[in-house]
Amino acid sequence: MNLKYVPTTCPYCGTGCSFFLVVRDDRIVGVAPKTRSPVNEGKLCPRGMAAWEFVASPERLTQPLIRKNGELVPATWSEAITLIAEKFRQYQPSECCVLSSPRTSNEDNYVMMKFARGVLKTNHIDHCERLCHASIVDPLADSFGYPAMTGSIPDLAKAKCIFVIGSNAFAQHPLVGRKIIEAQRSGATYICADPRKTFTGSQADLHLQFHAGTDIMLLNGIMHEILIQKRENTEFIAARTKGFDEFREKILQPEYSANTVAEATGVSAEDIRTAAELMAAPGCSIIYSSGITKQGSSAENIHSLANLQLLTGNIGRPGTGVHPLRGQNNIQGACDMGAQPFYFTGYQRVDDAAVHKKFETAWNFSDGIAPAKIGYEITEMMESLISGEGELKAMYIMGENPVLSDLDINHAKAALEQLEFLVVQDIFLNETAGFADVVLPAVCFAERDGTQTNTERRVQRWHKACEPPGEAKADWEIIASIASAIGYQNQFAWKSYAEIFDEIASLTPSYAGISYDRLASPDGVQWPCPSMNHPGTPTLYTENFATDDGLAVFLPAERQTENEKTDQEYPFLFTTGRCIFHWDTGSMTRKSSANTGNWLEINAADAKRLEIVTGDAVRLITRDAEISATARITEEILPGTLFMPSHYVEFTTKELVQNTMPGTGCGGRSAKIEKII
Ligand code: SF4
Repeated sequence: MNLKYVPTTCPYCGTGCSFFLVVRDDRIVGVAPKTRSPVNEGKLCPRGMAAWEFVASPERLTQPLIRKNGELVPATWSEAITLIAEKFRQYQPSECCVLSSPRTSNEDNYVMMKFARGVLKTNHIDHCERLCHASIVDPLADSFGYPAMTGSIPDLAKAKCIFVIGSNAFAQHPLVGRKIIEAQRSGATYICADPRKTFTGSQADLHLQFHAGTDIMLLNGIMHEILIQKRENTEFIAARTKGFDEFREKILQPEYSANTVAEATGVSAEDIRTAAELMAAPGCSIIYSSGITKQGSSAENIHSLANLQLLTGNIGRPGTGVHPLRGQNNIQGACDMGAQPFYFTGYQRVDDAAVHKKFETAWNFSDGIAPAKIGYEITEMMESLISGEGELKAMYIMGENPVLSDLDINHAKAALEQLEFLVVQDIFLNETAGFADVVLPAVCFAERDGTQTNTERRVQRWHKACEPPGEAKADWEIIASIASAIGYQNQFAWKSYAEIFDEIASLTPSYAGISYDRLASPDGVQWPCPSMNHPGTPTLYTENFATDDGLAVFLPAERQTENEKTDQEYPFLFTTGRCIFHWDTGSMTRKSSANTGNWLEINAADAKRLEIVTGDAVRLITRDAEISATARITEEILPGTLFMPSHYVEFTTKELVQNTMPGTGCGGRSAKIEKII
């Protein structure tokens, strides 16, 4: 028997837990958490423990498929690559676009980015971050400089106070949740703001159960109290920030007084004052996730969190800062690698002439690269296709499933139908492949080398544990084959992931000091790491912010998310969110033993009135869709609200949830429920 333990990281959330894949005779038989990982310290959540199970799924794609007479039929790699190369040669740069993937490695994303800009000559490249997590970090760049977490996961345990909002961290990022408990055990106060009393909220010392959609009101109310109580950090504000006077004037308006905010949010004035006092003390960390970003005022919500930490000076030291918990395992890396319309790697802007020249020279395409002009975001790609006003005709999708991940499924389907040519590269025949002209089988996380960058900017190694099924290939190798067939062999002539990483490091100042040798350490390296003797940066902004003048910026926020109005016919406010057993659209987790059935949470008083008990079959109906589920009666949500996890809904009913403003209960749609007899 040949038994080996192959180190890699979890393919699900952005926490980036490390484990060993246990391989017996080239077949994965389990996982063993890595004790030396500073992130998960030998622990994994249920999703991570089951992460290996989908790898050997019989549903994996094993050979290329080409659509002939309306059907996808098996083809050889040579046929598929030749067809794709011929097609892409026919289109103008403005007619092509690309979706890259947070599920693949940094190297794969880099190669796709180089392919888009160097081969297709287009900046129309993006990934699903724009649909769920773009605003989770971009507004941080407005305030601090980098679109990234300011601290690190291990340092959360050093906080004296932790404030969580818009995140069911104990369910969605459980190994970050563990750090919250660690801090709490060491004496920290844990505050959770959430319209639902989730598993995360129920363990808080102070739970601020605010009305869905009143996030800004609550945050401004807390900051108003900090100012009224004169608890702001005047020294920090004077030395390291700008824009304070205008911010102060807005926040001190009477509409943000504790009593007025209490009325609007449902949180008592006393709790608002207590939260203000606790959060103003030195050593407060803020954690947030998509619960505050998947709503109308997402950027404003994040600016408010940044304002809070600037107001109290709680940034730039371990145990302080603003910590976005990012969704997919390598969403930070996909952004870092320039799989976005605005940036090359490391957030170097495509419309900066010097940066453009640098990449053009280094890549050495004889016919140049895409112009120094920002391309389409994914939402603009879809809009342009539907309106018919843009020029897009061909799309190449790697490891994305916009038919399920788009906020409006019908919109995504209508857009894809407009394409003349679509290539989908994935591990499963997903819903988007139904629109593809060519489908290419790719490897999954267990079958590739490479690197991943987690939510705290930690770059870590993946190692290949087993052979891929059938003829599946590494994403970068597929892209390089297409590039070569189009005529760009020299620019894609790497022999390994390590060679690609060296090219990334040579062009990316924040990755310049990172190498595969250094990544052999279980700690990985946190960027920015500008040189080989630099230790990496667990805590950003210890001395200066990454803005032009080194100062952080107060950005007052006032716009609120608007909920759909309830009325007599649709009396409930329906919201969605996530649960511990699943990840995103569930394409991987629903193929594992962690899979469970769907449910609808109903407040106990409402359920009593409607004579519904736990286990009853119920129908949830919004103004344009409906879905059935099993009732779960609970005191965890406020009367008049309903909640359903968003992973389970099937294709036909997905629009019901996706057209909602999902998250951990922030924002929502009006709805009614019926008991199914
Ligand atoms: Fe860690 Fe997230 Fe994987 Fe759970 S899903 S093991 S928290 S990386």
